[in-house]
Amino acid sequence: WEMIRFSINIMRGCFGGCTFCSITEHEGRIIQSRSEESIIREIEDVRDKVQGFTGTISDLGGPTANMYRLGCRTPEIEAACRKPSCVYPGICQNLTTNHDPLIKIYRRGREIKGVKKILIGSGLRYDLAIQSPEYVKELVQHHVGGYLKIAPEHTESGPLTKMMKPGIGNYDKFKQLFDKFTAEAGKKQFLIPYFIAAHPGTSDEDMMHLAIWLKKNGFRADQVQTFYPSTMATATAMYHTGINTLKGVHRDERGEKVDVVRGEKRRRLHKAFLRYHDPANWPLLREALKTMGRADLIGNGKHHLIPTFQPMNTGGCGARKNEKFLTIPSMVSEKVPAKTGPKPGQTLTQHTGLPPRVTGNARPGSKKKPR
Ligand code: SF4
Repeated sequence: WEMIRFSINIMRGCFGGCTFCSITEHEGRIIQSRSEESIIREIEDVRDKVQGFTGTISDLGGPTANMYRLGCRTPEIEAACRKPSCVYPGICQNLTTNHDPLIKIYRRGREIKGVKKILIGSGLRYDLAIQSPEYVKELVQHHVGGYLKIAPEHTESGPLTKMMKPGIGNYDKFKQLFDKFTAEAGKKQFLIPYFIAAHPGTSDEDMMHLAIWLKKNGFRADQVQTFYPSTMATATAMYHTGINTLKGVHRDERGEKVDVVRGEKRRRLHKAFLRYHDPANWPLLREALKTMGRADLIGNGKHHLIPTFQPMNTGGCGARKNEKFLTIPSMVSEKVPAKTGPKPGQTLTQHTGLPPRVTGNARPGSKKKPR
């Protein structure tokens, strides 16, 4: 309740079809959007009736932030279409990507008397957002409370094709727009990318390349999400059959085999790659990198993934100057044990208290779990 009491649901459904998620299955692929008037009325209702409202709406969204009023151009085609996603492997040419109705709601919402700030907390479909730079500008300059969570989920095509997620190139394009509009507004705000470890179709090498990407981009995941085979998700079928169900299910050689990450040791290794910076993971990573023939990544230079030395206190996690700490919510309960409170100069994280953000919650500094 704390998380949603100042948030407004503007739509239901999702045409993304990410295989690890079952929202498309239980809410439908055709987006049901509320009317503009109904949304505005609810914002006013929250302002007038919800106890503790301080002027900040914490979210205007739904399963995704930006599928409002988007859908297939032709109802007949939509009714007959059996594609599991309208945005994978690329955006369907029949899909409308006009973000103007959403921009209009954001603008109207901001003008409501007594509303100081409207944040967007729902996950952003950034491959759609980059189709409308005007929307990205509106979002970045008015509706980001210091950091924006987005979910590339991986950098490598092996797992991305099993997840039905867009390539990392879309993330790069979105980041360019995000940085540009943030600078234009004279603000300091950051992107928080989420990644999944151990998804079906993820090899040890894929996780290693993701770790190299994280290090190159200065990201340190504080919490990680590890794949869990949940009900109704397509990836769950891959997990249990070992077959890429997106390519047809066959017991013989026609079925495309998928690398399924099972067992504590491999799941721990994949998770360790996401937390390559944690000394507690270095012994496991050293052993794996040697087995993989990538001992060249072990060393004490900037281009190495992990060092040769092992600190006395391997549970510590020292931050280097200019390196960012990021918070990634856990899909399952595999949280890193809570550390002691922040020390002077330490970058704030989920465990120590997130960076300052206007949340609309009357309790400043409360440790609120991201959605
Ligand atoms: S034709 Fe394209 S936009 Fe229309 S429902 Fe199918 S995938 Fe979606």
